[in-house]
Amino acid sequence: MANVSVVDNLPPLPDYTFRPLPPLLPWLSDQHLSLALPVIAYWVVSLIFHLIDEWDLFPQYRLHTPAEVLKRNHVSRWHVFRDVVLQQVIQTIFGLTLAYVEPQTMFGKEDYDVAVWAQRIRLAQRAVPAVLAMLGLDAVGIAKGLVGSHATFASILLGGVYPDATQTILQAGVPTTAPAFAVWELQLAKAVYYVGVPFLQFIFAICVVDTWQYFLHRAMHMNKWLYVQFHSRHHRLYVPYAYGALYNHPVEGFCLDTLGTGIAYLLSGMTCRQSMWFFTMSTIKTVDDHCGYCFPWDPLQHLTSNNAGYHDVHHQSWGIKTNFSQPFFTFWDGLLGTKWTGGDVSARYERAKIAAQKKVDDESKPPTITGTSTPTSASDASKASEQASTSRQQVLSDSQNGGPTVLAEEASEEITATQTLSEQVPSTPQSVRRSMRKRATSSGLKGLADRFGESLHGRRSGVLGVENGSR
Ligand SMILES: [Zn+2]
Ligand SMILES: [Zn+2]
Repeated sequence: MANVSVVDNLPPLPDYTFRPLPPLLPWLSDQHLSLALPVIAYWVVSLIFHLIDEWDLFPQYRLHTPAEVLKRNHVSRWHVFRDVVLQQVIQTIFGLTLAYVEPQTMFGKEDYDVAVWAQRIRLAQRAVPAVLAMLGLDAVGIAKGLVGSHATFASILLGGVYPDATQTILQAGVPTTAPAFAVWELQLAKAVYYVGVPFLQFIFAICVVDTWQYFLHRAMHMNKWLYVQFHSRHHRLYVPYAYGALYNHPVEGFCLDTLGTGIAYLLSGMTCRQSMWFFTMSTIKTVDDHCGYCFPWDPLQHLTSNNAGYHDVHHQSWGIKTNFSQPFFTFWDGLLGTKWTGGDVSARYERAKIAAQKKVDDESKPPTITGTSTPTSASDASKASEQASTSRQQVLSDSQNGGPTVLAEEASEEITATQTLSEQVPSTPQSVRRSMRKRATSSGLKGLADRFGESLHGRRSGVLGVENGSR
């Protein structure tokens, strides 16, 4: 029996006692675990994508060929690895500092909090008769007819009257009968407390991260000094791969990623254990956005339209001034008109592939990327060419990272690619792709994987998850 008091004829709230929450792992505090998990997830997921890359398991879903990774990037894998580790060290030190000042996590108030929600549910029911009266319905009359068959429903119609739901409590030390919650009220309150509120906290935190990253990221592209000093480093990767996701200047890594997710965590009021999910999922999403593949079966690439294909456009010399949104949604790009509007990007991708292919003696022929549409209007087409031109201007002015060379190479590549495409494409892209596939699936593991992929997914289509520019 709890020693509580009844207020306003509501079921009373139970007592609670705070106790220190034992950590999930006996040898590591939850705060430290929440710092370790994103780093572990980053490297585990990156390793999976790296092995897919190395063993060439799913060539049909590649956004770029291995030749492009080799020839078009302006930074070695070692430098990428080193800078990512540096960023993770900074992020962990920052987290450790915060964990040091953060109070010990306590628990024991859950039943009380659930009861608070149950009280709100009870209070909300009190409005039911008045609302029904506004609709011209007699709640009491309807309820009388339902008492025998649907007692709970009748109780709700009467404004949350549960004569049979009682409990014995100690009121000022004297056992007293007090109202109690109905079973459904407690179940609904638990669902709100354990599922509804955390879900809203996640959505809110995701929106905070997206907003924070969009505006900082966009500022890094709009301000030449910021771009050259900090953000151009990330754009040395014209062909992103999974563990390049956090390849940033340390200042940018701290400001965009560490602060962005940290602020979202604080503003959303998440618990430490919720933050484990949030930090880890944000990390995995960022890795996935840079993985270099458009997998039809990767749920992260279908939850929102911001996926590997979408972000890959931002890594191209012609799309660098578009698709700033990361890592979850694309609404800021949509609202502020920075979404890539050029529609079909397959020719641009094909050009880069052919050129890189020429540079290395790679016998595997990559498939043609399809699945995007053409610009739908003259205004889209002109906006697209303006987007591509301002994007190229940014690359050009970044001489430190070989910008002019990139564009010069692309210009000559374009001539070769246009010739090749005009020989290939006329109106039978399917047959061309099939013949390319035949050559690519000659033997071995790669051939097996190709056939496996084909049988699983049928004909390839829509590999590149870039949205139509018509919106
Ligand atoms: Zn960028
Ligand atoms: Zn990126």
